[in-house]
Amino acid sequence: MAVQLGIPVLRQDNNSQGSAAEPRLMGLPAGLLDRFGRQATDMRLSLTDKCNLRCTYCMPAEGLQWLSKQAVMTAEEIVRIVGLGVNRLGVRELRLTGGEPLVRADLVDIIRTLRQHHPDLPISMTTNAVGLDKKAGQLKRAGLTRINVSLDSLHAETFAQLTRRPFLDQVLAGVEAADAAGLGPIKLNAVLMRGINDTESPRLLAWALERGYELRFIEQMPLDADHGWTRRDMISASEIRDLLADDFVLYPDPRERSGAPAERFQVQRRESATGQPSGAVLGTVGIIASVTEPFCGDCRRTRITADGKIMSCLFSRQEFDLLGLLRSEADDDQLISRWQEAMWAKPKAHGMDHAGLEADDFVQSDRSMSAIGG
Ligand code: SAM
Ligand code: SF4
Repeated sequence: MAVQLGIPVLRQDNNSQGSAAEPRLMGLPAGLLDRFGRQATDMRLSLTDKCNLRCTYCMPAEGLQWLSKQAVMTAEEIVRIVGLGVNRLGVRELRLTGGEPLVRADLVDIIRTLRQHHPDLPISMTTNAVGLDKKAGQLKRAGLTRINVSLDSLHAETFAQLTRRPFLDQVLAGVEAADAAGLGPIKLNAVLMRGINDTESPRLLAWALERGYELRFIEQMPLDADHGWTRRDMISASEIRDLLADDFVLYPDPRERSGAPAERFQVQRRESATGQPSGAVLGTVGIIASVTEPFCGDCRRTRITADGKIMSCLFSRQEFDLLGLLRSEADDDQLISRWQEAMWAKPKAHGMDHAGLEADDFVQSDRSMSAIGG
């Protein structure tokens, strides 16, 4: 059965049809505004395209052709770009990602310098947590605010099947160390794959709730380098809710979503005998339904790849070269204009809906998730 795709809803405002004029010409605030009235305040910056895992939904078994060292942003270049985003363009939070940020040797120094420049900026990191047990304390002391860890399975064999590496124990040690170091509240990301870890979802949630972590299930997106994604195999948000329903009762979280990709639910245990909720609220779970219930209308993200390209959307096929311009001795105003131009061109929605509700002909981006920065 084909999964129905939702139609992204755009925020209604006077500018919702878009306009050919650029923001600064219209006298609008000089932030990262797009034609549809959305303002990007959440910056995702990729520190590297390299990774030590090979998650089947992200990378091919043999890895990818990595960027050369020269092509990747240096620590100084990262600090300058983040500075422009925060000081001149209204960026209010920073997420470091990759590839795997922990494989970058100067990670702690980068975070320390960013923290010195931006004492109040929330700086988080998305990581697979391999090796995090040895670095969590240093990262906290350097100024990292909190982390998101990808964890798709608690079974060593299933974990190894999904990531093609036998590192579950290291990941669990990393999560524990991050918690002990004060890098919370810890969020866990899990992608469910049909026939592999989908039935493990209630156990994953119970495990996260017991430890006070917020688990978020992410719908698999067509961003794998192997181009193996199909709508039919993808586990949709509604299926995820069904998978959890025997064990848990979910209630919409009353807190404001505020542009967050995850729809959050409060969780209570379901009494097996009566089917009724029992006991206290145990915590929250999030579902990131980028494919079937997209949230493009309230997207606040701007992305910088490890080679310094601006991507206004994960699914965009258009990139704007910020690093090349920076290396050509451009001044701050020129860099700001390039960034604004890139965001002004942000598509209204990611386009998976353009494929029609049933067809499987969505044209995938040239970059896979690890090469963009998820
Ligand atoms: N290596 C780090 C990690 O795995 O957390 C950071 C980079 S990874 C690309 C960021 C997030 O993207 C992870 O939570 C991962 O599960 C998610 N991801 C990767 N490929 C995906 C796909 N095809 N669909 C949905 N999520 C994906
Ligand atoms: Fe690496 Fe993260 Fe991609 Fe897995 S999802 S292969 S950990 S970049």
